[in-house]
Amino acid sequence: MKRVLLLLPAAGYRNDDFLAAAKRLGVQVIAAANYCHRLAPLWGMPPLMSLHFDQPGHAAEVLLREIDGAPDAVLAVDDAGVELAALIAEHFGLPGNPVAAVRCVRDKLTFRRLLREHGFHCPRFHHLPSGEDPQRWAADLTFPVVVKARRLSASRGVIRADDFAALIEALHRVRAIQSKADRDHRELGLVIEDYIPGCEHALEGMLDRGQLTTLALFDKPDPLEGPYFEETLYVTPSRLPGAMQDRIRHEVARACAAAGLVTGPIHAEVRVNDQGIWMLEVATRSIGGLCGRVLKHSLGMSLEELILRQAVGQPLPIAGADGAAGVMMIPVPRRGIYDGVEGLTDARSVPFITGVIVTAEPGQGIAPPPDGAGYLGFIFARAASPAEAEAALRRAHGKLRFDIRAGLPVDAA
Ligand code: ADP
Repeated sequence: MKRVLLLLPAAGYRNDDFLAAAKRLGVQVIAAANYCHRLAPLWGMPPLMSLHFDQPGHAAEVLLREIDGAPDAVLAVDDAGVELAALIAEHFGLPGNPVAAVRCVRDKLTFRRLLREHGFHCPRFHHLPSGEDPQRWAADLTFPVVVKARRLSASRGVIRADDFAALIEALHRVRAIQSKADRDHRELGLVIEDYIPGCEHALEGMLDRGQLTTLALFDKPDPLEGPYFEETLYVTPSRLPGAMQDRIRHEVARACAAAGLVTGPIHAEVRVNDQGIWMLEVATRSIGGLCGRVLKHSLGMSLEELILRQAVGQPLPIAGADGAAGVMMIPVPRRGIYDGVEGLTDARSVPFITGVIVTAEPGQGIAPPPDGAGYLGFIFARAASPAEAEAALRRAHGKLRFDIRAGLPVDAA
């Protein structure tokens, strides 16, 4: 039986989907969690190692001491574990991405430098080290700009600023978010870059020995203009002209190659405008939240199963159904305490809706980006056309009424 070391985030949406896929494939899982001992009973699968994924060097030492021989593969379920996964793969000589490549794409500053060096469309960007005064570029900035924490995800710590006063406020806020969320915040500083207008698309793909296979290209039909960038709708197939879709695939493949990525899932986000294709990010993981479930019909298996199959060298018989599909990450409308939802039955009975899952738990503190990085839940649709799938998602969302109480701890995520 093949053994896969799975690096599971403490509170990940998809841990269960990965564990279910492993079971289906008859793969033995060695689970290592992101330092939350309390989750072990929930998963019901000891032994479970608890590690600090955000200290990958130290975590790798602990893991290598604890683990009983080399696994057949190592996989990180989300961003938090990717660097540790690369270190472990490198140690055991397993297929994996080079540690330097993973570090490069995880850090929004080094990724921008890489794009610039390799001649991609790249916004002008500045690094603002901790404690430095942005006033020194006041004359050099063209507003609007976007302020970013360097290593966070799900639009956490990303704010658009339209003038210098808004920039100062955004810097203050993003600094506070990063200082809570990233232990290296002092050394990292922040990124300030030009705002790129345009429509946004996401490419879900798999790398195998450096070759990129596109699993889906998504449109994001809601405008993402800021000042905060909460994700909502993903719809596939894309309604972009075929030639533009090919160009996006090509640019994403080129960015993966430039970074030195060679294997496993990737999730890339791009903006498209008159000037061309702008790479926002390439992450060495699959799509976040429960969104991967939207691909089950087109892949003919769960995305997690596909990823595990590739990791353990099982065939990848991608043979799914045609048609369009979409998912809505149900946005958190405001900071507060989630108390419940009404209208679920109505939402589920909207034509083309295949599922409505509320993941927020009553009593849970919630906050939209830039502070939070979670959603209230997910709505799934399948239809003959992307337009129908999109309309169904909007209609179903319109049926839901969330009860959110005011009064919440500042650091709800
Ligand atoms: P994360 O990894 O947190 O998703 P991103 O860098 O992808 O961070 O930014 C999150 C979102 O913010 C993007 O999906 C996009 O909508 C918006 N965004 C980020 N950078 C820019 C930019 N330079 N111009 C316009 N929008 C941006």
